[in-house]
Amino acid sequence: MMKIPFKDLSVLDQSKKRKLLHSVDQVLSHGRIILGPEVISLEQKIATMCNQKYAVGVNSGTDALYMALRSINITQGDEVITTPLSWIATVNAIVLCGAKPVFADIKDDLNINPKRIPDLINKNTKAILPVHFTGNMCQMDKILKCAQENDIYVVEDAAQAFGAKYNNQIAGSFGIVNSFSLNPMKNLCGYGEAGIVVTNDKNLNEKLLSLRYAGTVNKEDCIFPGLNGRIDTIQAAMIMVELEYFDEKIKRIREISRYYTNRLKTIVSCPLEDDNSFHTYYSYTIVTDHREELIHYLNNNGIETKIQHPILMPYHSAYKERYQDCNIPNAERMVSKILCLPNHEKMSDIEVEYVASKVEHFYR
Ligand SMILES: *Cc1c(COP(=O)(O)O)cnc(C)c1O
Repeated sequence: MMKIPFKDLSVLDQSKKRKLLHSVDQVLSHGRIILGPEVISLEQKIATMCNQKYAVGVNSGTDALYMALRSINITQGDEVITTPLSWIATVNAIVLCGAKPVFADIKDDLNINPKRIPDLINKNTKAILPVHFTGNMCQMDKILKCAQENDIYVVEDAAQAFGAKYNNQIAGSFGIVNSFSLNPMKNLCGYGEAGIVVTNDKNLNEKLLSLRYAGTVNKEDCIFPGLNGRIDTIQAAMIMVELEYFDEKIKRIREISRYYTNRLKTIVSCPLEDDNSFHTYYSYTIVTDHREELIHYLNNNGIETKIQHPILMPYHSAYKERYQDCNIPNAERMVSKILCLPNHEKMSDIEVEYVASKVEHFYR
């Protein structure tokens, strides 16, 4: 029986491993362990790739989102409209700013439904926070139009969507300030925790630089309370190496994902890709009415699956007493049916075929 892990974070490519080790070696030699030159290179590179003027490297995607929201002064009394289906960091970031998350229902593509947003806007609404769930972009034209009409901000939680596109426009270039996670699970990854914020706005960039280091200016005077969210130079150096392999990795992940779709689309609900969009398939998430049995069956055949994410954000223990008033029937329906199949770039064609045929077999 084959053994197919959901992800495989080991570095098996020896030439890539040497490059990664060399990048660490260089940092150890120059000794600028904190905010060294590799951080600047990474920030410039990612800003350029995202078509933005500035990028600020931080120590997690959670920090990136929290600092993005802080930079536009999201605070007590404000409301931020977001999706109920995301990793809990999304809502934690809003709540830790002191603001209230307001949940708009999702569409069958698992992303926020722009049609549900206008009814949730009131005088306290400060921003819309769309999450490009699974690496599939939200309908950004509709979201931006709604935000413009109501004079509120858009901030993208693009943690799962580095490199994804909507109408041929890159993730991270739609909102006023946008965040990415570069943790080891994400498509563009470090070898430890990391994240990055991008923006076109000079003032927001300066604010982010302060927020990254205790709310200080020139590392001296603290102008507002802040945490310490600096990215490690070593992470930046290793992510620079990852970037060299990124296109190739996404190409392989897309190849695997599209193969699954071709094989499975008549038997389960598979992720869709719009004509002018570029889905990066951070996860390959199917929607199935027989989830528990399918998980069990695949597991018995050596295939590891995951549910990302099994609990809707408003229903986590920390929040369920507070946010009882949300109207999210589609999210409630979908969250009990979603299942992620392994689609990582290290899978061989034979393994990919094996997963597809086991899913087919289950349905037969
Ligand atoms: C991963 C993730 C985050 C948080 O990123 P970390 O680097 O793990 O802190 C935030 N939002 C979403 C949608 C994520 O998937």
